[in-house]
Amino acid sequence: MLFSFRKKKDDFSYLPSSDKSLSDLAQDRFDIPSLSHTLSGKLFLREELPLKSHQLETLQQEQFIQTIPSITTNPNHCRRCGNTQTSLFGEIPCARCNSTHIYCRNCIEMGRVLQCEELYYWTGPKPTYSIPNEICAWEGKLTGAQQLAADRICQTIDQAKEELLCWAVCGAGKTEMLFPAITKAIIAGKRICLATPRADVVRELFPRFQQAFPHITITALYGGAEKRDAPSQLTLATTHQLIRFADAFDVMIIDEIDAFPYHADPLLPYVTKRAATKQAAFIYLTATPRKELKLRSDNGKLPTVFVPIRYHGQPLPEPQFIISLNLKNTLENYGLPKTFWNWYHNRTQANRQLLIFVPTVDHSNQLSQTLQKQLPGQNIAAVHADDSEREEKIQQFRNKQLFILFSTTILERGVTFPSVDVVVLDAGHDVFDQAALVQIAGRAGRSADDPTGDVIFIHDGKTNAMIDAKRMISQMNQKARKL
Ligand SMILES: [Zn+2]
Ligand SMILES: [Zn+2]
Repeated sequence: MLFSFRKKKDDFSYLPSSDKSLSDLAQDRFDIPSLSHTLSGKLFLREELPLKSHQLETLQQEQFIQTIPSITTNPNHCRRCGNTQTSLFGEIPCARCNSTHIYCRNCIEMGRVLQCEELYYWTGPKPTYSIPNEICAWEGKLTGAQQLAADRICQTIDQAKEELLCWAVCGAGKTEMLFPAITKAIIAGKRICLATPRADVVRELFPRFQQAFPHITITALYGGAEKRDAPSQLTLATTHQLIRFADAFDVMIIDEIDAFPYHADPLLPYVTKRAATKQAAFIYLTATPRKELKLRSDNGKLPTVFVPIRYHGQPLPEPQFIISLNLKNTLENYGLPKTFWNWYHNRTQANRQLLIFVPTVDHSNQLSQTLQKQLPGQNIAAVHADDSEREEKIQQFRNKQLFILFSTTILERGVTFPSVDVVVLDAGHDVFDQAALVQIAGRAGRSADDPTGDVIFIHDGKTNAMIDAKRMISQMNQKARKL
């Protein structure tokens, strides 16, 4: 039950606390409010602390900073990332102690943490924030469905320990729905974190939030981010970056929660929960909730608000299934099936750009070359996860310098192009699960100027994922009709 943050009892009792108030000594020597801003809610290695030894000593005497062991043994437990898996601990000789001890390999990219080191934790006063007069500068207007969701999100953050699933279709405009609640939380002096599994989502959201909240300092944390500011009142972060946090955020919004790579890393839900305060409200945003979350929602155990309609009011394009019996053979020879050409030559809007999803990197590269030979007048490219020119190609496609873009599932979400038709070649392949197919279909019809688009699933046998994806889309359209 990985998503039942509230049900699962994680033990965070190792986090120290203190109710000591400011002594004259501390007040004289330190700028406590500024230290509190920098240090509160995080677990630090010694070298990460911006303090001289004597300063640290005083703050420890005052119990404004306390330490916890970084790794406890029998059984091994990394207090920074929560890792308890034996295979993810290594051994290394330590020059300081002249002995060999264990270190955690799971969180090594945040700086190696050795068994003999301690983690430093601020237990002094919590930070307070100066609240500007104008908070949200966004001047758009929410649609009825968006407003309903925004109201529920606002109610949820008012309640301690509440959870809310916001199930909003692709293109619902979910970022804007958050603005009223974030505004409210800022006024209340709360600390807010918007966490998402994907760094590209943080990169995309950061400038939008800066525009919407021009007088609020916003911290963006993701691997490779150059600026590592002190956490501010509003933090955007990849879930991975939350490894550094503890008891920090009063509002925890998790965007794209279904992309939570919990199969790969079950510790992310653990650190996400630890990063929140005990009273925090949790908001989960997704267009495609996975089984556990959906089950809790269906059973009435997880409060849920639906946004079944896109911001422009048009229904989601429903996928058409096109069977192509010789598909595997054709694709193996890097050819495009006849069914594709039949559709291509007859599509209703031949000027729409084309986004073609394929199962593998190899297919992506080879098929784009095949198609380029067959359509010499068109600019065609291919992208995949490790493509060093990924960002440029996406930008070129957005600028309409490319007419056709082949992609693996990497572009299934987080990217918006105004006017595209979408094709999935070999939609029955394992890589295309229900969530992926719903997200892929959600790339079409995103703009108010062209709110429709063809979504074609070419397959050689329907899979449950395809059927479930189509059902999820049409159920949302039904809900939207009833609004
Ligand atoms: Zn670790
Ligand atoms: Zn040592």
